[in-house]
Order: sequence, then C-alpha cells, then structure tokens
Amino acid sequence: MQKLSFPDIEYKEDPKRRNDLAKEPKIKTLLDDLGIDIKDVDRLSLLEDYLLNNRKCDGCKGLNECRQEVKGQRIAISYDGVIFDELEYCPYYRKALDENSYLSNLVYSDIPQRLSRLTLDDLKAEMHSLDSKDDRLRLFVLLSKIAGGESSKGLYIYGSFGVGKTYMCIAFMNTILKNGKRGAFVKVNDFINRMRKLIVTDDQEYEDILDAIKNVPYLILDDIGSETISAYSRDDLLFNILDYRMERDLLCLFTSNLGIDDLEKMLTYDKNNNAESLKAKRLMERIKYLAYPFHLSGENRRFK
Ligand code: ADP
Ligand code: MG
Repeated sequence: MQKLSFPDIEYKEDPKRRNDLAKEPKIKTLLDDLGIDIKDVDRLSLLEDYLLNNRKCDGCKGLNECRQEVKGQRIAISYDGVIFDELEYCPYYRKALDENSYLSNLVYSDIPQRLSRLTLDDLKAEMHSLDSKDDRLRLFVLLSKIAGGESSKGLYIYGSFGVGKTYMCIAFMNTILKNGKRGAFVKVNDFINRMRKLIVTDDQEYEDILDAIKNVPYLILDDIGSETISAYSRDDLLFNILDYRMERDLLCLFTSNLGIDDLEKMLTYDKNNNAESLKAKRLMERIKYLAYPFHLSGENRRFK
C-alpha cells in the first residue's frame, strides 16, 4: 500500500499583525489584566475576534441597545498557561439577572408582566395621602404586617370590580419574594381550567403543580368565586389545597368580588343548579379559618 506523506505546514507569522494588536487599547488592558505579554500569545486570532466582538459594546448604554448576536453576551479571554476564549455576560445583563433573582421564589405565577416589579414600597407615596381610616391604607398596613411576619392569618379581600384588590396583592407578593420567601400567585379561574386539562394529559405536571401550591409558604388565590363551580373544582382541587394549608397554618390571601356569604351561596350550586350546601360549607370553613374578611371599597380604577 502506498504511504501517504504530508508536507509540514510552516507557519509564517506576520510581525506587523502582532504589533498592531499590541497597540490596541482594549488589548493592552486585557493583557495587563491577564498579566501576560503579547509575545506569550500563540493564537492571535483569538485576540482579533475578541477585539471585533468587544467593539460592538462601545458606547452601549443598556441591554435594549445590545448589538451582540446573543443579547448581553460577549467574548471574554482567559489565560491558564495558554489563552482561550469563552462567552461572558456583560455588566448590564448581570445587573438584570440580579434584579430579577427574586422571581425564582415565585413557584406559580399569573402576575402580568407590567406588574412584575410592583412592591408595597411603591404604594407608600399614595398611602401618605390617605386618611387613617381609609380602607386602602388599612389594607396596606395589614399586608405590610403579614409580609413582615407579624401576622400568620391571611385576608379574604372582597369588594367590587376594579378597586385594586389584585393590584395590592401583587405588590404584597413581590415584596415577600424580595424578602427571600417563596410564594404563588394563582388566578383561580385559569388555574382550575389548566388543572382540569392537565389531569388527563400530564399526571406528573399535575401532581407537581398541586404539590407546589399546597406547600408554598405564601399563596394568593385571586378572584375566587369567578369560576364555574363543579364538583371537581370545589370538592377536589380547592378543598384539597385549602384543607392541607389549614392543617399546616400556611398563609393564604384571597381576593373576590363576592363577600363571604355570597361566596358560600355561589359555591353551593353547580351549573345544573344542584345544591350541595354541606360541600360549600366545608370549603368555606377552610377559607374562614385561613383568612379574616376585609372589605375594600373605592372607585373602579380599571379605565383610569
Ligand atoms: P380588582 O382586582 O379589585 O378588580 P385591580 O387590582 O385589577 O382591581 O385594579 C384595576 C386596575 O386599576 C388595574 O389595571 C390596576 O393596575 C389599576 N390599579 C389598581 N390599584 C391601583 C393603584 N393603587 N395605583 C395605580 N393603579 C392601580
Ligand atoms: Mg382582581
């Protein structure tokens, strides 16, 4: 068999290329930081790629004007005897990651994006303008106490449409998340529909969500009473969650357009008008155990 031989490839370096690179301020700073001399660099192409890539960051004032291929990521060079390149997050990206880290405490969320940063602190200015007997201020004080761990019983916040029940609860939720506690914000109606589908399509996900909602230290059930009542939602899903939480004194906040008595009536009848007073009562008992009723009055802020 014929033996193949390859000619040695002789690498001829262009000294100008090395000199030009050495003069670049970005490369100078980089080499100083790494504590090496350009003479020690064997792969000049890495430095050239680094230079081209990092120039895209010149003058950048934030992630929204990022010119990198992957937002917030750029080439970095390291040295451990030889130089090598890797991707790093830029300072703007790292800051955004830090600012959002509290969201990892949120185990289930129906919070709209636009309110994902709202905290009780953001409501302080508005609270200063209110009379001490104002519902909104009293609710603010109660929510602040609960967030500060001063009260272990939750609230059943009811009142008409658009008065800001959901808004205040979201501010509460983001506050406890930022204090390092875990929470879940659940829109009851959407949750029931989602779980009803999952129970047939994905047992494991169903169990995982149920487990998370049962055990999370702070749970908000938003807009209870807006759902269509069925034996499944009342006697299985909601009862299971609230019974479990009652046994363990886990904190729950509720919001509803219905007062406690109206909620009980609503829970009594299913869509075929069958009355199940006992089943409604045993769910209501859990709610009453977990939360004090609080009426929030005020104007509809929805279209303001
Ligand atoms: P509810 O849950 O009582 O029906 P929401 O909390 O959804 O009412 O509030 C209705 C609308 O008013 C929402 O768009 C919400 O963002 C806005 N809103 C409520 N409270 C405030 C507030 N204190 N400051 C500014 N906007 C508010
Ligand atoms: Mg609401």
